[in-house]
Amino acid sequence: MQPSNMEMQAMDRTRTHQPCAACRTLRRRCDENCILGPYFPSDEIEKFASVHKIFGASNVIKMIQMVEETKREDTVKALVYEATARLRDPVYGTTRTIFHLQKMAEELKTQLDSTRAKVFELQQQKDEILGVLYHTHDPLYYDASLQLNYDTVTNMLYIDS
Ligand SMILES: [Zn+2]
Repeated sequence: MQPSNMEMQAMDRTRTHQPCAACRTLRRRCDENCILGPYFPSDEIEKFASVHKIFGASNVIKMIQMVEETKREDTVKALVYEATARLRDPVYGTTRTIFHLQKMAEELKTQLDSTRAKVFELQQQKDEILGVLYHTHDPLYYDASLQLNYDTVTNMLYIDS
């Protein structure tokens, strides 16, 4: 009897199961139940090397075990990011990026505040101009101002005479 497709795949996996990057680095036996296997595939040796150097393998395992399974991939991503940054910058690590982004956020907030103030100022100018325009196009305003001028002139003439 020919083995089924699934059986063939299972045999294939067993035969070709490669130790994950963590087990390769730590020179230990790796199987399907390896906790690090899903996050450190055998071809990503560097990824494990960096977290191993910074946190130590047993701490990495502890940190992965501490979180629920659905969050483990993100946990590993964060650990790798932090470890890579710390290897690149042993003094500040990821905090350099955090400081930089905080400074940028503050600068953008200042810019936003001054832009808002400018918009407010322009809005006020626009309202003033529109007010004047509406006013001068108002026939009553015209009449009143003409009347006022006429009265003033008349008064002046009256006083003079
Ligand atoms: Zn493994």
